[in-house]
Amino acid sequence: MAWFRFRSLVLVALLLSMVGRTALAAETISLTVDATRTQRKILHAHLVMPVKAGPLTLYYPKWIPGEHGPDGPIANLSGLKFEGNGKTIPWQRDLLDAFTFHLEIPDGIRKLDANYDYLEPDGYSSTDKLMVLEWNDVVLYPADTPAEKLTYEAKLIMPQGWKFGTSLPLANQSANQLSFKPISLDMLVDSPVVTGEFYRNIDITPKGEPIHHQMDIVADSEAALAMSPENQKQMTNLVAESGKIFGARHYRDYHFLLALSDHVAHFGLEHHESNDSRLPERTLLLPSSGMALGGLLSHEFVHSWNGKYRRPADLTVPYYEQPMKTDLLWGYEGLTDFLGPLLAARSGLFTPEQYREYLASIAAQLGPGRPGRTWRPLRDTADAESGLGFGFGRGWLNWKRGTDYYDEGDLLWLEVATIIHRESHGKKSIDDFCLAFHGGSNNGPEVKTYTLDELVGDLNRVAPFDWATFFHTRLDSTSAEAPVGGIENAGWKVAFNAEPSKIEGRRSTPNTLYSIGLQIAADGMVSDSIVGSPAYEAGVSSGMKIMGVNGRVFTSDLLDDAIKASKENSQPITLLALVEDYFKTCTVNYHGGARYPHLVREDGRPDYLDELAKPRAGQ
Ligand SMILES: [Zn+2]
Repeated sequence: MAWFRFRSLVLVALLLSMVGRTALAAETISLTVDATRTQRKILHAHLVMPVKAGPLTLYYPKWIPGEHGPDGPIANLSGLKFEGNGKTIPWQRDLLDAFTFHLEIPDGIRKLDANYDYLEPDGYSSTDKLMVLEWNDVVLYPADTPAEKLTYEAKLIMPQGWKFGTSLPLANQSANQLSFKPISLDMLVDSPVVTGEFYRNIDITPKGEPIHHQMDIVADSEAALAMSPENQKQMTNLVAESGKIFGARHYRDYHFLLALSDHVAHFGLEHHESNDSRLPERTLLLPSSGMALGGLLSHEFVHSWNGKYRRPADLTVPYYEQPMKTDLLWGYEGLTDFLGPLLAARSGLFTPEQYREYLASIAAQLGPGRPGRTWRPLRDTADAESGLGFGFGRGWLNWKRGTDYYDEGDLLWLEVATIIHRESHGKKSIDDFCLAFHGGSNNGPEVKTYTLDELVGDLNRVAPFDWATFFHTRLDSTSAEAPVGGIENAGWKVAFNAEPSKIEGRRSTPNTLYSIGLQIAADGMVSDSIVGSPAYEAGVSSGMKIMGVNGRVFTSDLLDDAIKASKENSQPITLLALVEDYFKTCTVNYHGGARYPHLVREDGRPDYLDELAKPRAGQ
């Protein structure tokens, strides 16, 4: 009605006069991303934003949710031009912050047109056949307004014939053009799109589950989309198990966005209603497919509850220019890293043996594989996360430590699970904690923040214990030993023997690691030399290349043979290493034979690990 409209206008005028530039928030920003040249690694963006005369500051997203650091790809933003009423408006970058742009909007300009390209880095998000679009790569936003108060109307133009998957609500589609419903900036950035020539969606909603769950898979070939019925069943189980442990969902529906390619970066990024996971092209065709899905997709799915819904207050910021404090990443990532594999085991993606081998590999990596823990406590691996790049680059990882709050969080929270069981005399479990902490009602995507004190309080309500001292002791420890209390409380211990590890892929243990102490590639390149190990003592360092073994040209098999034979051999292993352009002979005094980590049963203690990993959802 006209009357109603009139009253609204008065109200808007009043608000404008009261709140100044935040009034921008009430108006919709339109963003069109033209991805038709994605095969040439160029995304073109056209943004139209309501403005008023005067200074205007725009940001390019800097602190990316889930990435925990100021790593927005600003260097890939190119061709930036602003116009108002057809006239160019000059811009200047902030002298102290490369993500900030300053403009002066002339009188009479109501709408700002921004045109720019996002140059996709090679081997990251796109190939000739597919693309993953994370909207933070292609968006600009006005300064100082919470992302949840800014409304965007996004459009995506895909290459002809490509299909797509996303949790972003669609308004309409015309051929290769998608128009999405207006949405807040935080939900836009939280809702990536996968698109590709080869696409398949698979419904993985369990029977009786009212909320829809699906997989949206894009791949570099049609053949790579062939997910086995067994994996489909296991993924459906995963959804059912998540319902059991958390008791509630905090999304409208859920999409597992999976990109399969050897030419994208391999990682996962969590969102409230989806996850962006990227794995090698033929992952689904391998016998280890369950392990790969359980290792990545299960983790990212758990994040919808732990990380997106329940989020450390220190990691919760109103918009992407504001720095995050990363001290509670051992809760955000560590608990997720415990629950992901646990649910993978409950859903059958991991066998019980694979779950144990997985825990053994972590315990070994953080024990004998991490002398750096003698100077750098777990707490510091979280505190120092923001932008220092500790987690990247492989050289000397054992001594400097990387993002250990993931893996060590896994052991830490396993110990929490066993303490809850012990202190409650078997009446309560980690499931009771998850139900209380991550449950509640489903209001769609929302954030409920927590502090360390609140976390401790919630644990105490499930099982009274001195949780504060427990966490402080574990977080500040500089013991050389990995915290294996959870494994031991559960009736198991870590042991090394000559039997190779039964898990494949990223978690598999090379024969060189816990024997002579080297992480070494198939071509002989040394990526890590464990400080204090026999190879390290013999002078082998990260960055050297092993060229020869006992007088013969290096192959992995030859070194493998030499390590196996070392037990019966009184002679040392001789390695010929290339250091820049000099050769160096390193004499490795090692006689321990092959050594791989496993979990073995501790006599006389009940097996609680098996109990924890049993399915709960009656599959
Ligand atoms: Zn994570």
